[in-house]
Amino acid sequence: MRILLATTNAGKLREFRQILTGLAVESVALEAFPGIREPEETESTFAGNAGLKAQYYAGKTGLPTVADDSGLEVDALGGAPGVLSARYAGEPKDDAANNAKLLAALSGVEPERRTARFRCAAALATPDGCVRIEAGTIEGRIIDAPRGSNGFGYDPLFWVDDYGCTTAEMPPELKNALSHRGQALRKLCPHIKALISAEGS
Ligand code: IMP
Repeated sequence: MRILLATTNAGKLREFRQILTGLAVESVALEAFPGIREPEETESTFAGNAGLKAQYYAGKTGLPTVADDSGLEVDALGGAPGVLSARYAGEPKDDAANNAKLLAALSGVEPERRTARFRCAAALATPDGCVRIEAGTIEGRIIDAPRGSNGFGYDPLFWVDDYGCTTAEMPPELKNALSHRGQALRKLCPHIKALISAEGS
């Protein structure tokens, strides 16, 4: 069965593929459909935007589609950047500029008040309009200077107390085992397997 992994973010795509390894699917990336423009993410929640993206691309391609919407919530910033995480420092999306803006916003905030979490909603949509959405969360703290070069986005600033490192210092297998995206995508796996069985019957 062919399944579309609907993200233009190279870091996310790498994680999607690692986490979904072992499923009997041929995964296709969005670059196989260069003519399809990105939908506007008009919803105010991760779940809303994940469902919107998955349904949009499933409708355009005719393929079962997995999409996620994810982001960072920082308590001292009232939950920002939240659903605006990718464009926190404006257009075009720029991880380095986002991280610099986050550090500036938290300047002077003491370590114990720098609590934060990554959230992910992952959606599986089929061309007939059905959609399943699952969620995951990982708790951490924002440190005051970047550490590590794995991952993407805010990973160099996201410290996980239990492991004593940032998610950018973790080997990819460990990040995927713990992360918001790993949790949400693993919860989608039974739904993907049900599609595979239905196709084979
Ligand atoms: P989306 O493409 O609208 O879901 O935006 C997600 C944004 O949230 C990314 O561009 C990153 O800035 C941030 N983000 C989400 N997940 C992660 C992660 O696993 N590590 C680091 N940053 C993340």
